[in-house]
Amino acid sequence: MSEPATERVTAVVIGAGHAGLSASHFLTRRSIGHVVLERGEVGNSWRRERWESLRLLTPSWQSNLPGQRYDGTDPDGYMTMPEVVGLLDRYVASSRPPLRTGVNVTSVRRAGDGYAVTTSRGELRCRVVVIASGACNLPSVPSLAEGVPPSVVQLTPFGYGGPDRLPDGNVLVVGASATGVQLAAELARAGRPVTLSVGEHVRLPRTYRGRDVLWWMDASGVWDERYDEVEDLTRARRLPSPQLVGTPERSTLDLNALTEMGVELVGRLAAVRDGRALFSGGLRNVFSLADLKMERLLDTFDAWSGEHACDDLPSPERFAPTRAPATPRLSLDLRSGEIRTVVWATGFRPDYSWLDVPVVDGKGALRHQGGVAESPGLYALGLPVLRRRKSTFIHGIEDDAREVVDHLAGFLAVGR
Ligand SMILES: Cc1cc2nc3c(=O)[nH]c(=O)nc-3n(C[C@H](O)[C@H](O)[C@H](O)COP(=O)(O)OP(=O)(O)OC[C@H]3O[C@@H](n4cnc5c(N)ncnc54)[C@H](O)[C@@H]3O)c2cc1C
Repeated sequence: MSEPATERVTAVVIGAGHAGLSASHFLTRRSIGHVVLERGEVGNSWRRERWESLRLLTPSWQSNLPGQRYDGTDPDGYMTMPEVVGLLDRYVASSRPPLRTGVNVTSVRRAGDGYAVTTSRGELRCRVVVIASGACNLPSVPSLAEGVPPSVVQLTPFGYGGPDRLPDGNVLVVGASATGVQLAAELARAGRPVTLSVGEHVRLPRTYRGRDVLWWMDASGVWDERYDEVEDLTRARRLPSPQLVGTPERSTLDLNALTEMGVELVGRLAAVRDGRALFSGGLRNVFSLADLKMERLLDTFDAWSGEHACDDLPSPERFAPTRAPATPRLSLDLRSGEIRTVVWATGFRPDYSWLDVPVVDGKGALRHQGGVAESPGLYALGLPVLRRRKSTFIHGIEDDAREVVDHLAGFLAVGR
């Protein structure tokens, strides 16, 4: 029997989240033949990998995609997961990308002057590949999790199904960025005693001078800062997500709010030894640093509003410093039965296990310059500070996708 002919296409886009769909928008505009391959359904990460109560922390008026502006009735609200999926489904219905769902990419390797893309449905050959497979495919769990006694249930946000699905008893949440503070608050509201382990974090108020803090990030240009202007790009790319939650009340969810809910704050989880969780001291310093950075950011907003004659805005505000417990606990016996569950809210990472091109560094990050990877014709979208500070966010994709596809088109035109 003869082998089926290998399909050839100019460009392959991997992933049908907002990044892959936006890449397709600009490829179509430039009449570049392509397919979008998605292992699950459109918006698979939002459908399958987020927890039920999650809402976007970005307001709806920011949920714009190339060629599609938010036109709903609640621009200042924060979308639920089904609403985000609806947003992407509507985008697909109107833009009709050349989409193939249920196609898992299992390998991408150099072949001739392009790439061979192996999938669960056969192989394709292409000149260029856009990796839009997401920055948060897997939860990052520190290796010290191995020391947690087997009597304690360990969960990541991928397996978190809400307070009712956890064993009875106390919960240790490790990590106090957006995910950690949101899950700690939900568990505390459900009556669970919660201990929250806090390392370096980004504190932000939900609203500032009457506007959503993300309005300020946008208006003042902070979010538009380009990757080649950022002082310490490596650090910027590793910055944890801000302590924010999207609720109908637009409430601030900082560590003071959690303390008021009865959450116990402890330092960074430094080790698990002989069944004991050991926390770093110096909580006060960690809090002061986050407070200071927030104030500096608010100063930037105030300076911007001063220069732009925003007379209609209320006067500058300042917020109470983060209150540290008088004597924070330095250790917790995980064998005592007090803590029944540990939730690892310690971040997410991309999965490039299928990428057989040597462009991934020792820490699992893709090596690239503004989305142009270190292999001719290989591109990426949707990674932290890819081309701007806003790169991973829904509203950040349009500028990045346009510029990355511009580069890609130039590459194809030159024929190198
Ligand atoms: C908990 C959480 C909350 C967030 N909240 C916000 C927010 O409030 N506002 C905001 O703007 N952003 C938010 N983000 C950031 C960001 O918008 C999302 O991570 C978003 O999903 C990224 O879009 P993407 O298209 O880059 O990747 P994804 O949405 O992850 O899409 C990647 C797609 O690629 C597919 N894929 C992966 N590997 C393969 C493969 N080998 N073969 C085929 N298909 C593959 C996946 O199934 C997936 O559908 C949040 C992220 C997280 C993790």
